Amino acid sequence: MALLKSIKSKLVVFATMTTLIPWLALGLKSIKSKLVVFATIATLIPSLGLGLLTFRQSEAQINANVTRELRALTDYAGREIEFWLDKRAHEAHVAAASGAVIEALSASYQRRADMSAKYPGALARYLQSVQGKLDAIMELTVMNASGKIIASSAEKPAGATLPDEWPQNSVTEGLVIAPPHWNEQYSTATLSVAVPVLSYDNVLMGALVAVLDLRNLQPHLKSSSTSPPGEVFLLDPNGRVLIGTLPGETIVQLDASSLRDLLARPGESLFFEGLTRREVIGLADVSREFPLTILAERDRAAVYGDWIELRNMLLILVGTLVLIVAAAAFQMGRSIVVPLQRLMRAADRIADGDLEVRLSATRNDEIGHLTKVFDQMADRLRRNHAEIMAAHEAMQQQNRMLEKLSITDSLTGLYNRNKLDAILADQLARFRRTQRPFALLMLDIDHFKTLNDTYGHITGDKILAKVAQILLQSIRSIDYAARYGGDEFVIILVETYIDQVVKTAERIRAHVENLTYPAGKSMISITVSIGAVECRPDDSTTTAVFSRADNALYEAKRAGRNRAYFSR
Ligand code: GH3
Ligand code: MG
Repeated sequence: MALLKSIKSKLVVFATMTTLIPWLALGLKSIKSKLVVFATIATLIPSLGLGLLTFRQSEAQINANVTRELRALTDYAGREIEFWLDKRAHEAHVAAASGAVIEALSASYQRRADMSAKYPGALARYLQSVQGKLDAIMELTVMNASGKIIASSAEKPAGATLPDEWPQNSVTEGLVIAPPHWNEQYSTATLSVAVPVLSYDNVLMGALVAVLDLRNLQPHLKSSSTSPPGEVFLLDPNGRVLIGTLPGETIVQLDASSLRDLLARPGESLFFEGLTRREVIGLADVSREFPLTILAERDRAAVYGDWIELRNMLLILVGTLVLIVAAAAFQMGRSIVVPLQRLMRAADRIADGDLEVRLSATRNDEIGHLTKVFDQMADRLRRNHAEIMAAHEAMQQQNRMLEKLSITDSLTGLYNRNKLDAILADQLARFRRTQRPFALLMLDIDHFKTLNDTYGHITGDKILAKVAQILLQSIRSIDYAARYGGDEFVIILVETYIDQVVKTAERIRAHVENLTYPAGKSMISITVSIGAVECRPDDSTTTAVFSRADNALYEAKRAGRNRAYFSR
């Protein structure tokens, strides 16, 4: 059945869905989608499953009920046909036993000239008057034993095609029925019955044939009060409609395949395109007495309308339920995923080194707890980080101080000898690279030992510091001044040519000479000797430069001190 097929296909779709969706859900990555899919399945499986089972069961129930009702219709019609036929046969018997019929037939056998001329006309009139009183009879015809028509109520009697074994069996059975068929002569479906005409001494003389109008049977096919709903039709063996309960029926032929299916399974209900040209459920019964099919059918929409409406309502209900559950699951998923994503973003920022992340926990559940713990962790990280940064800063400061100390002479604040060696090596390398010359001035305070001895070491120290100050004031910011040791100082003049070197040395010498320094109650003055050299391409080491400067200084001392000696 078409409906069953559709239920089957629904079950198949349902089973496929319930198998496939979990696999689909496993393939999904986001928690939100997984929740939505599982909630949908959890709603669909019980509701659709139960719904389909219930509907399958109620469909079977409806099928059984409608089949029972259709059977009742055909049974009722079958009984009514027999009853109606009995009454018509009785009427025919009464007519056949009338004196007019018997005497007319006897006369035809005795070939009485006067009678044969008189009786047929009188008999025909008698038959017409009897037929006029009986609604169901269209024609009454009297035949003799050899089948010859003696008289009839009709001008052109249709009579009946009587079987070969007639008249013998008509005597034994009393009634011969010609199958119902469409009678072109009367333009209606008719059924003929033949009853024997016996003489007064019970000798078979002929037959009375009554042509019955099946339209007379039509009101009896169905009881208006007790019959279940549905239509009943009588069909000939070719599926032609002889009569039916639907008045004004225009469809007169049941299609061959439906007829075949119905006759193959008599008493079983089938779906087919009915005589009303609509989808119907119907069943057929075959009359026991003659080839006549009794068909009962009912509009399928009328039978299954409520059921279909209920099914659609269930589907709408399930659909709405699924939507609501999916929306709730989506919202639930959001309430989990959104704070999780916030936590993830915060964790990413911390991983990227941004510790200024602060989340506020607004919920009291597990996620709220997780957020709170996350905040505490971030706070601790921030504090640890601040401590580490402070320690790092202090260490850097100390390093800077140590670095400064490692290159500074503590008494004068000038570069110390170590740094001077590095600067000189650097300048030498630069000179080789760029050919830009530099000069080195070596200074030594004259008779400093005597000064120390006379005024004490403290005064000596102060004078050393003052000389350092003068040196710093006398050079450019790109030049270097260092304490070489004891009362010896070194100046490196960067990118300076010889005439400028001489000028600078002289200016320093004069500056020192012109200053007086307080020493106790008296003022003292000092002088310096300077040895100056310019770097040379053959200076392979710093020692070579120092050595030449030292020699120049020696020359200055030797020449009488308080002077600058320049050596190439
Ligand atoms: P000259 O003219 O030949 O240079 O004679 P001088 O007395 O200066 O002899 P020299 O340069 O050899 O003597 C340097 C003296 O400097 C020796 C030492 O007592 C003194 N001196 C070295 N370092 C310091 C110091 O840090 N402070 C003080 N006050 N004196 C120092
Ligand atoms: Mg000296």
